[in-house]
Amino acid sequence: MTAVIGTDPTHATTGTPREGAFGNASHLVCRACGAQSPLGPFYACMECFGPLEVGYDFPTITRAQIEAGPKSIWRYQPLLPVPADIASFRSTDPGFTRLVDAGNLAAELGLRKFHVKDDSGNPTHSFKDRVVAVALSAARELGLQVLACPSTGNLANAVAAAAARAGIRSVVLVPSNLEQQKILASAVYDTTLIAIEGNYDDVNKLASEIAGEEEGWAFVNVNVRPYYAEGSKTLAFEIAEQLGWRLPDQIVVPVASGSQLTKIDKGITELIKLGLVEEKPVRIFGAQATGCSPVSQAYRDGYDVVRPVKPDTIAKSLAIGNPADGPYVLDVARRTGGRIVDVDDETVVANIRRLARTEGIFGETAGGVTLGCVAKLIADGDLDPDAETVMINSGDGLKTLDAVAGQVGPKTTIRPSYEQFADFWKGLEA
Ligand SMILES: *Cc1c(COP(=O)(O)O)cnc(C)c1O
Ligand SMILES: [Zn+2]
Repeated sequence: MTAVIGTDPTHATTGTPREGAFGNASHLVCRACGAQSPLGPFYACMECFGPLEVGYDFPTITRAQIEAGPKSIWRYQPLLPVPADIASFRSTDPGFTRLVDAGNLAAELGLRKFHVKDDSGNPTHSFKDRVVAVALSAARELGLQVLACPSTGNLANAVAAAAARAGIRSVVLVPSNLEQQKILASAVYDTTLIAIEGNYDDVNKLASEIAGEEEGWAFVNVNVRPYYAEGSKTLAFEIAEQLGWRLPDQIVVPVASGSQLTKIDKGITELIKLGLVEEKPVRIFGAQATGCSPVSQAYRDGYDVVRPVKPDTIAKSLAIGNPADGPYVLDVARRTGGRIVDVDDETVVANIRRLARTEGIFGETAGGVTLGCVAKLIADGDLDPDAETVMINSGDGLKTLDAVAGQVGPKTTIRPSYEQFADFWKGLEA
């Protein structure tokens, strides 16, 4: 490794990461056996091939210190594997999305207090900007020169945009049957977009092969996955800070690979450990589409392992049939008193419309999945209606227009004449 990506001339150009390259992160640790590895472009344990995650040696971190930071995920720099000067690099500066007090939805669902964490407000309109920003930092510090990913769509958008802004090359691999909106919303950044004839799991396998062959590539969700995954913790950090440095009682999270859900749990644990919030139990629930619900099925059957499925759902951003973090999602749900459930595609569309109708938030299919699962969990008596609940809306409905295209549209088409309008309006009122 001789060159680094990015354009900061002060940056180290050797193969050894500079001092402080990963902030307060101190090592990688295997989630299966606990064996430790040094910080590097590693993602599988050398002892047991288990998944690695980032471990820290945290100093004292205060609320005031965080509140004084930028209005992006970088305010949580001390809790992320990124350097102290991260805000000076060109990133898309994601995060700090709104937490919507969803009173209308709460009333309709019979919940006392309900919030929607609306991550459609990120730079490329999904929560993936968070994870990509952290992966990009790791790639840069490790001297990797191409930012790449296999993607169900949103990740490709985020990688392509982040690479464009950082001035580096990107290569994104997507299933060829992806929504047109998501394909164009990647291609516009002039990335090397490659459509693969196959489903996401085929694309993912190819990415692993390429990662093994091509040197200097950072596949954000493969060889720098431990860093990438840490980006999802910022959802938990922001929710707590936006509630006035307080944890909610219940969180409902969409599940694709399961990374987001497990890292929201990790983020909560770290906030408590650092004394940034008062300790309290938070029940974490997972949401899947029935057409791709391997984790929900394993939960229902009482299994610890997840049996892969062939995805068949309109919720393409969640269509991962062989989820890498599936077993850990089951752990988190069982340990916190949550559950993993699924809803069918018809329910997904109905709940995209419900979120829009009640709160003015147009979520993508993943949002419909999550809200549909909230309603199901209430109906089944799994969510406590008196407890404070948060759901994640992880993406933007403008990227999955087909889901509602057959169901909503103009109420009428008329000529530009007041008479025609008045006739229509009277008919409507009658
Ligand atoms: C990727 C994605 C998720 C879930 O991500 P995982 O961390 O893989 O479980 C949820 N919602 C949207 C819109 C996504 O693009
Ligand atoms: Zn191990």
